[in-house]
Order: sequence, then structure tokens, then C-alpha cells
Amino acid sequence: MTARIIDGKAVAAALRARIAARVAALPYAPGLRVVRVGDDPASGVYVRNKDRAAQQAGLDSATIQLPEDTSEAALLDVVRRLNADPAVDGILVQLPLPAQIRAATVLETINPAKDVDGFHAVNAGRLATGQKGLVPCTPKGVMHLLAAAGTPLAGARAVVLGRSNIVGKPMAALLLAADATVTVVHSRTLDLAGECRRAQILVAAAGRPEMVKGDWIAEGATVIDVGINRLPDGRLVGDVDFAAARGRAGAITPVPGGVGPMTIACLLENTVDAAEARRG
Ligand code: NAD
Repeated sequence: MTARIIDGKAVAAALRARIAARVAALPYAPGLRVVRVGDDPASGVYVRNKDRAAQQAGLDSATIQLPEDTSEAALLDVVRRLNADPAVDGILVQLPLPAQIRAATVLETINPAKDVDGFHAVNAGRLATGQKGLVPCTPKGVMHLLAAAGTPLAGARAVVLGRSNIVGKPMAALLLAADATVTVVHSRTLDLAGECRRAQILVAAAGRPEMVKGDWIAEGATVIDVGINRLPDGRLVGDVDFAAARGRAGAITPVPGGVGPMTIACLLENTVDAAEARRG
């Protein structure tokens, strides 16, 4: 079997077009503020891409750039000012933060109604308890990709590789909410290959280049590769050995061009959702 490629660029472009249409119908431009501390080069690319995509969708988007030596108190002041600003619907503090700042404290200071990353404990709790809230962008993007691939979720055996707060855990919660039978596997799991082999849906988010081998994949499975890993030779690869997996999976996302484009599209979607929920 040669797997169908799930084209994240095309799915993201369609989602961005739907978002732009929603924004055009609003009497205001939803406001997104990305706060960046220091100039970590990797996050610089993300921040520029976010800004560009947000502006293309018609959002009122801006980046607030703060110096590397910003104190935690100064950053919290910025966040509180954005919390209080009625024109701001979405606040995203770009991670990682410099060592003098406790990321957890900053994330918990963001108004949950404006928490477009969905990392606040209130939003994590809402997701875990099946209430409406803002959902982390990357796992939300994966759900859009599964829908676009036509993968049935109810009752399906889904395996999530990785248990981080930003990908693995919310991913498992979303799949569970969609009635999948969910297993979460991680660095202490005894038989990773065996667990993965049972998956009809496999979502890999471990951050380990090509760790998922072809024979870990069940024939016909849908494979979503969240990993983004830069090899020493400069190549970008996922957590799945794509060439081998493609010979067994039914559908698979490439890296790049799979999950990556969805994350930014879902950030825009969350900003419009937050604006509509808050402004009525
Ligand atoms: P993380 O390091 O916070 O978590 C990784 C998880 O994988 C952990 O729960 C760990 O238990 C598990 N893990 C690590 N090594 C393992 C191993 N050898 N065997 C089994 N489990 C293992 O990472 P994260 O923030 O969740 O990100 C995961 C990957 O997804 C990274 O490659 C990251 O770059 C990528 N990512 C991509 C996007 C996107 O937009 N496409 C967004 C976020 C993260």
C-alpha cells in the first residue's frame, strides 16, 4: 500500500480562507498580540509567519518585542495591559522565555478568554471536562487534518506518542472527546512499537527524528506526524520514518507541509473564536 498524502498546506489554506470570510463579516478586526522576549532565531521565523498570516486573514495583528533582559514583573505588566485592552482578543506569549521568567506564571496571568494558545489551566481543564474553551493550536490542527482525510474517529484505536501539555495531552483529550479509544505512549512506555502497531490512528509528537519505524505502523493506519526535527545535514524530518511508513499507512502527513501550516491557521481560528465569544 502507498499512503495518501494529507496535504496540510492545502487544508490550512482552505481553513484560512474560511477564517478570512468570517473576519470580513465582523464589524471589527479581531485583535491578536504576540509578545516576544529576546530574539531566539527559531521563534523569530514563527512570529513573522504568524503576523503575516494574521494580517492576510484581516486580523489586527502586532508583535510586541521586549528585550532579552525583561523582568518577569515587566512582562506580567504587559500581559495585564493586554488583558484589559478591549481591542485585544488574543494574547500569545512566545515560548521559550528567558531563564529569569517563569513561563507557568506568565501563562496563568493571561485572561483565559484571550488565551489563544489554550495553555491556561482553565482552558486545559475545560478541554479535559468536555466544556467549550480555547484549545491548543497544534492538536486542534491535527483534528482538522483527520477530518480532511476522512478518517473515522468514533471507536477507532488512536495512539498518541508524547504527553506534553502543548501537544500530547490535549491531543489525547480531543481524540477522546471524538469517541476514539485513546492510548498515550511516552518515554517510559515498555513496548512502544507494539502499542503503535495497534493504532488505526497514530499521532507522533515526541520530538525524536524518525523514531517511528515502518514496521510500527499498522496496514492502512492514518499517521499524523507532529514532529519537526532539524538533522545535522540541515534536512527537516518528522518523528516518523516517512519513506518506510508510506509503504504501510493508508494516509500520512509529510514534514514539512503537514501539521506545521495547521498550527498557525488554528491560531487565527482561535483568535476569531475568542473575539466572537467575548464581544458577542
Ligand atoms: P516535548 O519535548 O515537550 O514532549 C515530547 C514527549 O515525547 C514527551 O512527553 C516524552 O515523554 C515523549 N518522548 C520523548 N522521547 C521519547 C522516546 N524516545 N520514546 C517515547 N516517547 C518519547 O515536545 P512537544 O513540545 O510536545 O513537541 C513534540 C514535537 O512536535 C517536537 O518535534 C516539536 O518540534 C513538534 N511540534 C510541532 C508543532 C507544529 O506546529 N507542527 C507544534 C508543536 C510541537
